[in-house]
Amino acid sequence: MSLAETISEPLNVEEIRRSFPIFNYPENKGLIYLDSAATTQRPIQVLETIRKFNEEYNSNIHRSAYKLAERATAGYECARLQIAQFIGAAHPHEIIFTRGATEAVNFVAIGWGNKFLKPGDEILISEMEHHSNLVPWQMAAKRNGAILKFISLNQNGELELEALDDLVTERTRLVAITHASNVLGSRVNVKKVIEKAHQVDAVVVVDGAQHVPHARVNVEDLDADFYLFSGHKMLGPMGIGILYGKEKHLDAMDPVLFGGSMIDDVNYYESTWAELPWKFEAGTQNIPAVIGLGAAIEFLEQIGMERIEAHDRSLTEYCLNQLEPLEKIRIFGPHRQRLPVISFAIAGIHAHDVATFFDSRNIAIRSGHHCARLIMRKLQISSTARASFYLYNSKEEIDKFIRVIHEAIGYFSRWN
Ligand code: PMP
Repeated sequence: MSLAETISEPLNVEEIRRSFPIFNYPENKGLIYLDSAATTQRPIQVLETIRKFNEEYNSNIHRSAYKLAERATAGYECARLQIAQFIGAAHPHEIIFTRGATEAVNFVAIGWGNKFLKPGDEILISEMEHHSNLVPWQMAAKRNGAILKFISLNQNGELELEALDDLVTERTRLVAITHASNVLGSRVNVKKVIEKAHQVDAVVVVDGAQHVPHARVNVEDLDADFYLFSGHKMLGPMGIGILYGKEKHLDAMDPVLFGGSMIDDVNYYESTWAELPWKFEAGTQNIPAVIGLGAAIEFLEQIGMERIEAHDRSLTEYCLNQLEPLEKIRIFGPHRQRLPVISFAIAGIHAHDVATFFDSRNIAIRSGHHCARLIMRKLQISSTARASFYLYNSKEEIDKFIRVIHEAIGYFSRWN
């Protein structure tokens, strides 16, 4: 029986959890993991795929005449094809393997930015970006004399896209925007941003690190120029990420890493580059992670992205409906149009203390600035506590989370 057949509507969380060894590990008994926005757990199918590679056919890819390496190469390139199909890319060679979303942004900021940004050009980003999609653009602007401009975040945790008409000008050369916030959960209408940017021929880079794990993405439909995300936030291994780029942009930009596997010809003083996608994949890649990411996508597809999205939405609404009436709780971000990421504060209590209290009740949540200092500045806070959910979380876990919120309010009120 396939995984999909064992899962009835809505998601059978108990059945899904059986695929995740971490929840069955004796030391983790009773653990409620609410930190999937930082990294997700990995199903046995992914772990087995990696084990198989290491035990059965560990070898380096490409340029090999023996069977072991042919098998590794086939696994690696097959994963590329799967990923291309998963996000609706026109060609597998538009999929570049990187170490993660962060490295992917840097590839564009350096490989595209250094070649095409000129003094006076404008780079438009938003106040809601993760540092990964902010700092590389600050550096690119400095290196190339470009000017950074920002789409504002309002107090509801939404981007003010109405201002695009004024912000996008003939000088706008590149727009870098998140598809969903890792702090506020807010989803962004990136299609609207892309349409607007394309009216002035600006190139758009979309950070899909939070969006891809939770809802179907089609890069062709969005007409994104670049789109990037990380494997470890979507049940895949750490150390692997994806940079999707339209063929014309990847062809035009420069490679960022130089060395083995990325050359066409090498002479004493000059070299030429291999064709796409290998031009960007210098050196030995994280081959088991690539193949493992392929297994993660297979797992997600078997369950169905639409069902995962519906499950996430129902958990989030269930949680928000119980949190919102609580006087001492402040919730950051919009009520609707959000991913299963809930940042909150308990009046008068530091987020780290909140997270520590939850840990004492065996619930893992995150606290801090979540690598998004501009959001903190805009909302005039220093940190938030953050709970995030995924396909292996249940309503019973949310109930426990809410019970602990009440407990925490009671506990800390004694000290206030
Ligand atoms: N963008 C967003 C929106 C993220 O949430 C993260 C990870 N927290 C990143 C980029 C960076 O991902 P990675 O650390 O896997 O490179």
